[in-house]
Amino acid sequence: MAFYPSLAPVVGTARMAESVAGLYIHIPFCLKKCPYCDFYSITDLSRKESYIQALMSEMKLTRETAHSFDTIYLGGGTPSILSGREVEKILMTAKTVYRIHPRAEITMEINPGTVNAKALDAYRQAGVNRISMGIQSFDKQVLKKLGRIHTAEAAIRSLQEVFASGFTNVGIDLMYGIPDQKRSDWRADLAQAVGFKLDHISCYMLSFEPGTLFETERLAGRIDSLPDTAIADMFQLTVAELALGGYNQYEISNFARPGRQSRHNVKYWNGSPYLGLGAGAHSFDGFTRSWHFRNIDRYIQVLADGCLPVSGEERLTQSQHMLESIYLGLRTTAGIRQRDFERRFGIIFEDLWGDLIVDLRGQGFVQSSPDRIALTVAGMLFLDAIVGRMSDQIGDI
Ligand code: SF4
Repeated sequence: MAFYPSLAPVVGTARMAESVAGLYIHIPFCLKKCPYCDFYSITDLSRKESYIQALMSEMKLTRETAHSFDTIYLGGGTPSILSGREVEKILMTAKTVYRIHPRAEITMEINPGTVNAKALDAYRQAGVNRISMGIQSFDKQVLKKLGRIHTAEAAIRSLQEVFASGFTNVGIDLMYGIPDQKRSDWRADLAQAVGFKLDHISCYMLSFEPGTLFETERLAGRIDSLPDTAIADMFQLTVAELALGGYNQYEISNFARPGRQSRHNVKYWNGSPYLGLGAGAHSFDGFTRSWHFRNIDRYIQVLADGCLPVSGEERLTQSQHMLESIYLGLRTTAGIRQRDFERRFGIIFEDLWGDLIVDLRGQGFVQSSPDRIALTVAGMLFLDAIVGRMSDQIGDI
């Protein structure tokens, strides 16, 4: 793995691959750190202004190498900590510096308890046309356990304000597999979400990430994770209930009404290039991954010195690239198109994985046609193990 020197010169940044890329802008501020979260964010808001300046400097420094986007995603952290004026400043700069498609999908993550009608109106005026709200649950006990700053009532109120502000592409995030959560609690959350007639629902399984308070508590025996069987049951319930509500699963954790998939997130799964701006953000130019300093002060300082805040990069080998395409492709219900895969990597799919696919199909984990292979809902529960078996066949290609 090659690392940039700490102050990487601007020159030498790989040019984005030809297909239209996605732009991710990380806003690393939160009012309070949730005990399960390992995203990079801080609760000291005093550096908000200098951070926004640094973001705009980064845009200017990358204008020559990455300039055409048809999606923008303001993620976090909590982007809705920003005022309407601040969001406008960021988006205006992006539109000035890069070529942004006139019908670009511009998503902003918002958290209940951090928005009001006036701010929402300002975000919309600034160009945001898609909202993703981190609700996580409508259940009082679950929200308390997750350490969220909002109540169920505040979440519903914020959702109503989003609709009243005129947004017509609205999604929410929910979480399941939370300690002590029952199947019936989760079913009630899903039913409530469906009742709002949203465009998009993401349902994430709680994972205990190293370094989080939840993981420390779990290791100390103070909280118990749910048994795998209960979590698998909740996953299958999710797919079934959301299908009944009119939502197609298009990725393991993502469900949308027809035509309402997140165009930005689809880029991550189909291997499209994306540029990540901000502290801790990652980028992919079609060949090389790179990542930024996960430290806001360092990020600001490096940009003030006129350099890009790249902390490391890794050019994917042929086998890493293949493996990654398999892993990401199998996360989606569209799966992997064998002909594309063969053309891209110069291998015969059948030669490498023919026997394995027959075996997995026999176990009900894979559905395949002459053209595509995809995991079934049962297979998605074993994604890592299945990719592991496919990886064994790749060897040293
Ligand atoms: S889950 Fe969201 S709100 Fe909570 S700390 Fe992480 S980024 Fe911030």
